[in-house]
Amino acid sequence: MKEKACKECHAIVEGEVCVVCNAPTSSDWSGYLIIIDPSNSKIAQKMGIKVPGKYALKVR
Ligand SMILES: [Zn+2]
Repeated sequence: MKEKACKECHAIVEGEVCVVCNAPTSSDWSGYLIIIDPSNSKIAQKMGIKVPGKYALKVR
């Protein structure tokens, strides 16, 4: 199963559309990021992540 990443919020999902924000997903991504506590994560704050989960660092 190929994982895809959302072009808007960078969440890693399995379908063509992001389950978080309904934006289209891309299979061209890199960097695996797991956010457990967004309010205590500098990376999450920098990327604007508010929901815990799996994210991609870069999405093309
Ligand atoms: Zn999204």
